[in-house]
Amino acid sequence: MKKNSKHNDVLYVVIPCYNEEEVLEETTKQLKLKLEQLIKSGLISSESKVMYVNDGSKDKTWEIIENIHVKEKLFTGLCLSRNRGHQNALLAGLMTAKKYADDDNSIDADLQDDINEMDEMLEKYFNGNDIVYGVRSSRKKDTWFKRVTAEGFYKFMSKMGVDVIYNHADYRLTSKKVLNFLEEYKEVNLFLRGIFPLIGFSYDIVYYERNERFAGESKYPLKKMLAFAWDGITSFSVKPIKLVLNCGVFIFIISILVLIYSFIVKLMGYTVDGWTFIICSIWIVAGLEMLSLGIIGEYIGKIYSETKARPRFIISRNLNEE
Ligand code: UDP
Ligand code: MG
Repeated sequence: MKKNSKHNDVLYVVIPCYNEEEVLEETTKQLKLKLEQLIKSGLISSESKVMYVNDGSKDKTWEIIENIHVKEKLFTGLCLSRNRGHQNALLAGLMTAKKYADDDNSIDADLQDDINEMDEMLEKYFNGNDIVYGVRSSRKKDTWFKRVTAEGFYKFMSKMGVDVIYNHADYRLTSKKVLNFLEEYKEVNLFLRGIFPLIGFSYDIVYYERNERFAGESKYPLKKMLAFAWDGITSFSVKPIKLVLNCGVFIFIISILVLIYSFIVKLMGYTVDGWTFIICSIWIVAGLEMLSLGIIGEYIGKIYSETKARPRFIISRNLNEE
């Protein structure tokens, strides 16, 4: 039997926005057409909405969202008290939207992910899947640098033992049930792409070509991307610690061999000028120790912030409740 067979669900499309004044008008135009079409075809109910989440933007993003909300019935907004980053803004939106919706779709404000896949996502959802992941089939329109770094990121993540869907960013459709379970994940270092596969349930995938950003600049410069990857790995995997352990074992074996070698040399009566060798060893070992301490420190830092269990976002206004 089909699990989610009751069409006409209330769908909320959650969109985190950070300094997106250049794209919001166009995004609204496109999404309005899309939602109207989905409502007309009976896939979603007329109560469905797009929920913009203003992530502490410094430009006119929130004013624009308020204006859109006044003019358009299908649009609403949420304003965070300050910038908390893409993942937290998305979480704030999803946790709020699930109060009103049967299922939620998340997508970026620049519509680089093809909104025309929403039909197929909904079909797959109604066929009994609780999560439908949008996956980028090619990145021809990305810059060479973005493509190489982003694809390298997914490969590295899975090498590090983090269960992620290859080339899936945060374009996905999820049922209310999944979001209720997401609420149970209390971690502060949030990496949603790693949490959804952990939640489980049946899922499906839709493939699409990623477009270029039609206006504005990427809010994910290299520095943020690296921080994001690092967060993903250290929040989900203990492989780096195992790597350090393996290094330690390897160096221990080498040091025994060196010990045997130096004994043999001594017994044979050769005088060895060992100064360079000793200095090199000291530096290598000291370097590795420092590295290990650094990685362990990273985990301790994470434990520290998790035990504080601070709220991950504070909503200052919710237009749906005003
Ligand atoms: N974003 C956000 N808070 C931030 C940074 C980004 O809410 O601190 C949002 C941004 O507005 C966009 C999405 O996250 O909707 C993805 O950002 P972007 O499109 O710039 O990333 P890219 O596609 O270049 O990886
Ligand atoms: Mg983008």
